[in-house]
Amino acid sequence: MDGIQRLPLAGKCSILARAPPFHTPVSITRCQYKPIEKPALLPPKSAIKVHFITKHKDRNLTSARAGWFLGLGEKKNVTNLQEIVQAGDPVLHVPAREVRPEEIGSDRIQKIIADMVKVMRGAPGVGLAAPQIGIPLKIIVLEDTEEYIGYAPKEDIKAQDRRPFDLLVIINPNLQKKGNKSALFFEGCLSVDGYRAMVERFLGVEVTGLDRYGQPIKVSASGWQARILQHECDHLAGTLYVDKMIKRTFRTVENLQLPLANGCPKIGVR
Ligand SMILES: [Zn+2]
Repeated sequence: MDGIQRLPLAGKCSILARAPPFHTPVSITRCQYKPIEKPALLPPKSAIKVHFITKHKDRNLTSARAGWFLGLGEKKNVTNLQEIVQAGDPVLHVPAREVRPEEIGSDRIQKIIADMVKVMRGAPGVGLAAPQIGIPLKIIVLEDTEEYIGYAPKEDIKAQDRRPFDLLVIINPNLQKKGNKSALFFEGCLSVDGYRAMVERFLGVEVTGLDRYGQPIKVSASGWQARILQHECDHLAGTLYVDKMIKRTFRTVENLQLPLANGCPKIGVR
């Protein structure tokens, strides 16, 4: 999941400003609707080794990531990092397969996990799913830090119930909602570079799965961490946030602070 967006709305968005205490949109993603050049060629289910990474042209990372951590610098260190697959690549739109327990200790799976952590931190982002580096396996990583949160306005942090948490690696996650409360906030995705939209997410979730050592793990999360978990687990089902977004809120990162269009729901907890 894309990092964090802090936008002082400073009177620019009357709709949001009228919705205290959740008056500041924040955070995550982007999306690219490109014409389909050719039919997606789906690989056989056994083709886990295939990285369906569409060959990307060299792109100017600076411009490609403009708005991502605005004013905080660009990618930290792109050297030897795998490229993040962008929307349209078939690997992002098909369900990932479970990792067999006996595979977890293998060099291959451990390297995939290490690569995912590096890519997430290098982006920087607060979450990443294996399909985003071209691997159709059910593995997610997530992490939020004091540093990242420090870039967000205090009112956003409070509205989103955002708190730091240590690195989490979850294999074969199974997500269940806790309660029926939900919230609408802007989010973004490292695989939909340059865009954001409001997405409704449950406020609380519980995720069970295996940790990087193959041990059972259970995570109870609320607020922003719960949103990140939902976003990343969606990736494993071949779902991007743009499949769930409030369409009329979709916008470029540069336009994140502009008023919502008529008919858009209010941002915040519902
Ligand atoms: Zn994402």
